[in-house]
Amino acid sequence: RARKRFGQNFLHDHHVIDKIVRAIHPKATDALVEIGPGMGALTEPLLEACGKLDVVELDRDLIPILRTKFFNYPDFRIHEGDALKFDFGTILQPGQQLRIVGNLPYNISTPLIFHFLAHHHMVLDMHFMLQKEVVERLAASPGTGDYGRLSIMAQYFCKVEPLFVVGPGSFNPPPKVDSAIVRLVPYDVLPYPAKDHKTLEHVVREAFSMRRKTLRNTLKRLIDAEALEAIGIDVTLRPERLTLAEYVRISDAVFDLKSAAADNADTDVTHSDALNNDPESQDEY
Ligand code: SAM
Repeated sequence: RARKRFGQNFLHDHHVIDKIVRAIHPKATDALVEIGPGMGALTEPLLEACGKLDVVELDRDLIPILRTKFFNYPDFRIHEGDALKFDFGTILQPGQQLRIVGNLPYNISTPLIFHFLAHHHMVLDMHFMLQKEVVERLAASPGTGDYGRLSIMAQYFCKVEPLFVVGPGSFNPPPKVDSAIVRLVPYDVLPYPAKDHKTLEHVVREAFSMRRKTLRNTLKRLIDAEALEAIGIDVTLRPERLTLAEYVRISDAVFDLKSAAADNADTDVTHSDALNNDPESQDEY
């Protein structure tokens, strides 16, 4: 019984399950959370190794199956609901960081990865089973066709390690594509810190909004060609040619431009406030 809308392909290959658990290397002290446990193929060995586990499962029909199967583990907690909406902070003790595991439904894997990147400070590491192509995009280098927004943002926050490929035959029902396991480890200290993460995200999104155009064109709404050249960026290149370090440099330049514009706007506001005698409207500033 698999339901298409939940992207359910259940792992049955014990060789693969062992390999995944060995790669995760769970310990009793870990704050381990599994997303989409399904029928518990990975849950069982994780619980065996850890003794405790939190899982987040969307399909309510699976909840009683999981409850029955793991009734003898007092530290097994099931959270019914959408992992994209779940507040992972609620399962953390002070000072702990999450270890996240998931054979993710492929339709939510990219939003979920972006979700965890935004909360990288609460994550120790992540092991995901993904469509092989998504793992290739996460790990891609500049100048390749797979390199894009996902590669840059994942590599900005995390060390990305593709581990191994898993064929369709390891699942029931078999998916149409190859899968792969990837390990993402958020950096304690970012190797290329930007002044503002959100600006970096914005710059990268704009840059790749038209892959076949040059940076001069794709970035012109944020920064002009002269300003890009002033920081050593070749504006005739396409977005996939730039390294993470170069995107960070652009992001910082855009951030400085925005800050300067905001300072000017503040000055204008102060000026108009001085002319405005309505005390309530002045309170807003
Ligand atoms: N981990 C199991 C395994 O390896 O056999 C199941 C993997 S199956 C590809 C994906 C699982 O994620 C399903 O159990 C599905 O119900 C669940 N799921 C789908 N969308 C979800 C969401 N938004 N939040 C939490 N779980 C979800």
